[in-house]
Amino acid sequence: NNDGSDSVILHEDKLLGGLLADKFDEVSCLSRYHSVMYRNGVNGLSENPSSYLISRLRTYEILHKRCGPYTESYNKTVKDLRSGRLSESSDCKYVVWISYSGLGNRILTLASAFLYALLTNRVLLVDPGVDMIDLFCEPFPDISWFLPPDFPINSQLHDFNQNSAQCYGKMLKNESVTSSTVPPSVYLHLSHDYDDQDKLFFCDEEQRFLQKVPWLVMRTDNYFIPSLFLMPAFEQELSELFPNKETVFHFLGRYLFHPTNRVWGLVVRYYEAYLAKADERVGIQIRVFDIGTGPFQHVLDQIIACTLKENLLPDVARTKDIISSSGKPKSKVVLMTSLSSGYFEKVRDMYWEYPTLTGEVVGIYQPSHEEHQQSEKQMHNQKAWAEMYLLSLTDNLVTSSWSTFGYVAQGLGGLKPWILYKPENGTAPDPPCRRAMSMEPCFHAPPFYDCKAKRGTDTGELVPHVRHCEDMSWGLKLV
Ligand code: GDP
Repeated sequence: NNDGSDSVILHEDKLLGGLLADKFDEVSCLSRYHSVMYRNGVNGLSENPSSYLISRLRTYEILHKRCGPYTESYNKTVKDLRSGRLSESSDCKYVVWISYSGLGNRILTLASAFLYALLTNRVLLVDPGVDMIDLFCEPFPDISWFLPPDFPINSQLHDFNQNSAQCYGKMLKNESVTSSTVPPSVYLHLSHDYDDQDKLFFCDEEQRFLQKVPWLVMRTDNYFIPSLFLMPAFEQELSELFPNKETVFHFLGRYLFHPTNRVWGLVVRYYEAYLAKADERVGIQIRVFDIGTGPFQHVLDQIIACTLKENLLPDVARTKDIISSSGKPKSKVVLMTSLSSGYFEKVRDMYWEYPTLTGEVVGIYQPSHEEHQQSEKQMHNQKAWAEMYLLSLTDNLVTSSWSTFGYVAQGLGGLKPWILYKPENGTAPDPPCRRAMSMEPCFHAPPFYDCKAKRGTDTGELVPHVRHCEDMSWGLKLV
């Protein structure tokens, strides 16, 4: 296409309806402004972000510039952290996100930490871990979101746990929280094994104390945003930010997570080579949590049963040699992702060995098969990130239960996936899959506590827009 219309579209939509700031150097992070070219009408921004969200993001960027690493305010607040005493002078407050868990989990928790920072007027600073810098471009103009190498508690970040003196849950247990002694930093333990005291983070009353603490250091492997929607203190603000609650992760994700040029190269080369020319793209994300080495027949049966039943892929004619169609046959490509190659090979062979009943041509591709999770290896996670991103560029998506890898793909893509139910006892469930209620990720370990009444409650039954998840009966998701 040489008539220049591509570049016109690029120019008009590249800021994603005002979601992105226009202040970045394009070449240093091509994905930021080019991603729009790979998302057509079917997925991507089907609606624009609210003008209130846009204005809050621009104000956040100003705050980040004023408080980010090595600014005058940052240096002052860091001094308090070193001395352990709070001075009057610190005017900036922070959320420090600890790099923890698999990549899908990290993307979800970073979005959660950012929204919490936005709601509490804090600045988000990111522990770069081993690979964050290689994976993600800077999302905020002018000043980095990464904690600098000389941040005073860098060496402690990965040692914080529920027994640390700075742990908020522990402080509550020891009754050492008083409004007169506000420490310069508090560690928030929000990972799946957190206890009842740690969970009080989700109560307005505790937030009133935390508000005063300049440094909140957070470790989590959960998308905790659904529970923020149950807190009266944030209710009004959240409804203005996200009139459509189903788009929370979509917009936060499209704002925050831009693959670095290295990862973008993986995305674009694969897309152009294998996906671009097809009439329709289907994504199938396979994540098997069963013990033992796959591939498992029941998982393969389930994939095929789901895609046929939901009309995502055509059935094959096992007794015919050829089915002729008039004209050029419609082409479908399937992007499969999985740690193993077994499922991909079987599905690919099926569409090679037999003709489809519809005459459609089906190509099956899988970028990698890394065999097992190796969260600390760099190229491994670059590929994982590229694959999540590629899945997000498909027209129809099938995902696996419980997998944050799939949640990231569906959320970024603006796609309501078909979720494969978790197999029980080595058999394919019937029905094999169901369509998700919304594109939002599931919060796997939510609190079940009524802060006001101070007793347990089913938090999935309180408001219509926070429900139990399709793939995990005790989880919570926004719909
Ligand atoms: P979850 O465990 O499915 O919730 O997803 P996470 O992303 O948090 O952790 C799984 C990790 O295993 C990923 O970060 C990858 O490193 C790896 N992984 C799992 N599935 C795939 C896959 O289909 N492709 C690739 N390249 N890596 C995968």
